[in-house]
Amino acid sequence: AALKAAAAKSKEAAEAGAPTVFDKIIAKQIPSTVVFEDDKVLAFRDISPQAPVHIIIIPKERDGLTQLSKAEERHTEILGHLMVTAAVVAKQEGLVDGFRLVVNDGPQGSQSVYHLHLHLIGGRQMNWPPG
Ligand code: IMP
Repeated sequence: AALKAAAAKSKEAAEAGAPTVFDKIIAKQIPSTVVFEDDKVLAFRDISPQAPVHIIIIPKERDGLTQLSKAEERHTEILGHLMVTAAVVAKQEGLVDGFRLVVNDGPQGSQSVYHLHLHLIGGRQMNWPPG
């Protein structure tokens, strides 16, 4: 319940334009293990990995994309770039037998950080359906 309340608060703050923890990671104000970076996207290891490989891939400019459901036509290019980055990073991480890409959206999707991100998860057998 406390986690849910915290997530709801950070959702409101991010929608009002406040930075999230990912902005601090982009600005290198807090440390992270970066595995890929270019001028548009950043990929770094999740602090609480759910599998041997668990990487977060984000756009450096949030541009209103607090969550995927806010996507508009102008975001098409960056969304495509994020997906291609996932494929590049998966290869770099040696995930030759496959992986899973996850986007959590909103409270029911269990989203906690309101800066759009892909979870690249691999290195073990995944199950379906997810929890
Ligand atoms: P969400 O639940 O889809 O919003 O995922 C947010 C993810 O960010 C979670 O898997 C967290 O473990 C991860 N995370 C939160 N803070 C940090 C951090 O400071 N460094 C790396 N990963 C983080």
